[in-house]
Amino acid sequence: KGLKKHFPIKSGFFKKTTGYVKAVDGIDLQVFPGETLGIVGESGCGKSTTGRTILRLLEPTAGEVWFDGKDLARLSREEMRRMRKDLQMVFQDPYASLNPRMTIKQILMESLAVHNIGTREERLATIEEMIEIVGLRKEHLNRHPHDFSGGQRQRIGIARALVVKPKLIIADEPVSALDVSIQSQILNLLKDLKKEFNLTLMFISHDLSVVKHLCDRVAVMYLGRVVEIADKRTLFDNPSHPYTRALLSAVPVAKPRQKRERILLTGDLPSPANPPSGCTFHPRCPHATDLCKTKAPSLADIGGGQFVSCHLVHAGELAT
Ligand code: SF4
Ligand code: MG
Repeated sequence: KGLKKHFPIKSGFFKKTTGYVKAVDGIDLQVFPGETLGIVGESGCGKSTTGRTILRLLEPTAGEVWFDGKDLARLSREEMRRMRKDLQMVFQDPYASLNPRMTIKQILMESLAVHNIGTREERLATIEEMIEIVGLRKEHLNRHPHDFSGGQRQRIGIARALVVKPKLIIADEPVSALDVSIQSQILNLLKDLKKEFNLTLMFISHDLSVVKHLCDRVAVMYLGRVVEIADKRTLFDNPSHPYTRALLSAVPVAKPRQKRERILLTGDLPSPANPPSGCTFHPRCPHATDLCKTKAPSLADIGGGQFVSCHLVHAGELAT
């Protein structure tokens, strides 16, 4: 609710704060138990910062993060450390997040030890089971991260997140560093694990086809805000926000009959240090009016669980 993460811009000899990068600038999102919520948008729109701020890997500047009746943003470090058992993250680059000096066994055992889960024997049994669940073998446990391919490393990253039996996993571009041929294997693994472990998944990606493959609902972000949320079907068949439409028009469709006219976005993504006034999309929006330049639209329910942040959509002036 109202989640914000602003990074100070420091400059000059005395490192005075001269402004803020508004990476996440007031996000309202709900993730329902058991669903996979996709978060999409161009790079630099604040997707990763949103994920990290929810998990308190970054401290929120403002807002609330309710999970199981607790506001994570208000927990002490120690309380948050205990919560981490339920809230795990899978990173884009598993290599950077796996300690190269540790064996896979040590990495997975540490994950359990940090949360005081089980005896040593129980921990061993758990990780031996987990390594096979993610599609590797027990023998792999004695090796180091550099012995594995990118896809295998991501399986290890997933095992590390899963071994503590979390309720929510936030996966930040978990396949975008991998070869296309490996991507679908990892996506299918996540899909299976989600079912098997009754997980709730937040899946961050710049790639709409990946999101389409995996997600139940999708939130589209632009410059630190959510501009549209809907279930996957609605979003892909009936996108309403002009930005969502432009994003989707660039994705090839299976049936050429449905081919959408390609909407080209003019101009670059503006800097989150100096976002445009009003609707921050207005300099690039083909429908922008004077109102759009001065007043920020709110994220409003337009029916059927679809939320859109656009004046023209709210006024019914943009045919869907
Ligand atoms: Fe475009 Fe205006 Fe809607 Fe923003 S509010 S997306 S500028 S029409
Ligand atoms: Mg990112």
